[in-house]
Amino acid sequence: MIDIGVNLTSPRFKDVPSILSRAKNSGVRKMVITGTSLNESKNAISMCESSYNYPDNFLFSTVGIHPHEAKNFSPESLNELKKLSTHSCVVAIGETGLDYYRNFSSRESQIESFTKHIELAIEKDLPLFLHERDAFDDQIRILESFGKDLPKSVIHCFTGSQTNLLKYLEMGLYIGITGWICDINRGKKLRNIVKNIPLEKLMVETDAPYLLPQNMPDLPKNKINEPAFLKYVLDEIAVNRCESFDEISSLTSKNAKSFFNL
Ligand SMILES: [Zn+2]
Repeated sequence: MIDIGVNLTSPRFKDVPSILSRAKNSGVRKMVITGTSLNESKNAISMCESSYNYPDNFLFSTVGIHPHEAKNFSPESLNELKKLSTHSCVVAIGETGLDYYRNFSSRESQIESFTKHIELAIEKDLPLFLHERDAFDDQIRILESFGKDLPKSVIHCFTGSQTNLLKYLEMGLYIGITGWICDINRGKKLRNIVKNIPLEKLMVETDAPYLLPQNMPDLPKNKINEPAFLKYVLDEIAVNRCESFDEISSLTSKNAKSFFNL
């Protein structure tokens, strides 16, 4: 299994070496740490370059500024991102996109930041790690404005409708599925449509420490999700697609390897 979205730099993770060894023991072969701000992107790169990554090339990273943080986006931060993106462990630009659900940053600053991230991905020839919530129309409009230049992209933690899904697929995007699908109420819609994602476009992620899979037989008391729990996301996907765990595991790993060039 390959976890394409882990917030490993979160302060909620107190003991990273244990998190990594539990992940390996549960069958996670590689993971991509999500960069959500300049600082978190730098921390993610440091983790990739640290002894945590020894002896196997286990950790990779994205660099980007989350739409919630877009108010802090500036020409200077873009320059910083540009520099960070040259590190060999950096495999995508993001997470970036639009979030009109929380609106922690104004729509104008989100659109500005998003557009600059896409331009950076094109310049650096890196894929895009995308976030979108309640902003589908604007997100599509901006992505489509780049036409054929748009780099290959994954919409991470997809939770949208069937219509949204079909549009993203029509545009050639990959779809990242998290433990949202395991949620009894919130995940219902996603469980019904997950079978409509072609296997060659599917990838899996925990978004840890968030989105603890609710189908776990024993939920940890601290409620903290970690990459070792990725298998529960795969379980739920497998059941709802009527496919085997092994098939999902091997195909999503293959997709992640070629998408991020791991
Ligand atoms: Zn996100």
